[in-house]
Amino acid sequence: MSAVVFTLDLEDHRPDDSAELRFPAVTDALLDDLEKAGVIGTVFVVGEVVRDQPDLVARVAARGHELGLHGATHTPLPDVGPDTFRTATAEAMDRLAQVIQAPVAGFRAPIFSLVPDSAWAPEILTDLGFTYSSSVLPARNPLYGWPGAPTEPFRWPSGLVEIPSPIFGVGPANVPLLGGVYLRVAPMPLIRWAAKKAPDHAWLYSHPYDFDPGEERWLLPEVGRLGSRVMWWGRKGMKDRVVSIVKDTDRRMIDLVSALGDDLPVFEMAAT
Ligand SMILES: [Zn+2]
Repeated sequence: MSAVVFTLDLEDHRPDDSAELRFPAVTDALLDDLEKAGVIGTVFVVGEVVRDQPDLVARVAARGHELGLHGATHTPLPDVGPDTFRTATAEAMDRLAQVIQAPVAGFRAPIFSLVPDSAWAPEILTDLGFTYSSSVLPARNPLYGWPGAPTEPFRWPSGLVEIPSPIFGVGPANVPLLGGVYLRVAPMPLIRWAAKKAPDHAWLYSHPYDFDPGEERWLLPEVGRLGSRVMWWGRKGMKDRVVSIVKDTDRRMIDLVSALGDDLPVFEMAAT
């Protein structure tokens, strides 16, 4: 089995401030369990969380995890636009670097929203000093995906390294089985199969809420009643599932990038 890299997208997913603020405590508890399991990985944090919860972010860093940026806000890149993206990302990157007292190398777009409509982003990320991105889901997906993008690590023309989400063929679909809702609800034998067959550059992704069975339920208008219920499925077993895949793995995204070396293929968008 390859060593799958653990990643967490640290975000405040509540619809508004009236819902209980649970993600900081959930994240601390998760970090405790990861430490017991010998896991060190990469945490991509939203700029607003860096602003509102700097102590939490500093605690994540103190445990040895790499910190990357998960957008200045949790807005899909096509809705942000290049001008705002440049200024807001620069500001959030600076704030994060100050809180963790270390440079920031990695970026993950909210909801895998690095798509043809936001293909301006890699050049801006390179200008700002990012080394790598893990923002592309190279398959068709109900929310955001880039079918036709490489499934192996590559470079954007600007030089930025991209480590796309690993995808797995399930029937006619290619899905990111090692992450979020897929990882929570797919049958365990399927998850074990995916973890076993995962490529060397594989990472799994998760969010604090994935580990929070006690959170009150609300309706997410964008995914409807059933979709909303699914958002709460499998949360109780998520920690065990994640630990079973990444136990004793201390490889962070930046280590994975370093191991790739310099001669990655360049992806020209016109090729799609
Ligand atoms: Zn996110």
